[in-house]
Amino acid sequence: MTYELPQLPYEYHGLEPYFDTTTMTIHHTKHHQNYVNNANIALQYTKFSNYSIDNLITSLHEVPSDKYMILRNNCGGHANHSFFWKILKIGTTMDTVLKKNIENNFDSIENFKKIFEKIAVNHFGSGWVWLVKKNDILSIVTTMNQDNPLMGIQIAGVSGKPILGLDLWEHAYYLKYQNQRINYIKSFWHVVNWDMVLENFIS
Ligand code: MN
Repeated sequence: MTYELPQLPYEYHGLEPYFDTTTMTIHHTKHHQNYVNNANIALQYTKFSNYSIDNLITSLHEVPSDKYMILRNNCGGHANHSFFWKILKIGTTMDTVLKKNIENNFDSIENFKKIFEKIAVNHFGSGWVWLVKKNDILSIVTTMNQDNPLMGIQIAGVSGKPILGLDLWEHAYYLKYQNQRINYIKSFWHVVNWDMVLENFIS
């Protein structure tokens, strides 16, 4: 198996004006493609080449040390971006089941967004902010670089099943928002695909 760049479920301009066309195009065709290419090269002639991407990022402890960092970074990059594109869409609304669960964990939707924004803006350097589910508890965590909570606590420093995630690398927002990461984070709420988030929550 070789990994392939998944098609976006919308046009590059489909998330305007919140996520701009140029950023979306470069992010998908250059950054994500690069993770896919690098992962495929590193996986050539290894027994891991038939692992699904989610299987691979949960099996990094099996990977030989000379391939470990390149696979952690690039398979993480492929998994994270594949997840990310799917949780973006304009015009969806939060279902009541999800709303109740977020309220149970964070008191209110407003408070959930406030905490998410604060953790995201304070994350130092590149990485991701996630809403994860673990034992039916929802929490907000961040990971460094292209780590994913599915990699587990020993690698990613956190664990849980991602329900929602936001790319905090500058390549995700710098063209439009420059150093104002907070404005990018706030714009994110306009493009969350709550239908997909619900699917992630219940599956
Ligand atoms: Mn990215």
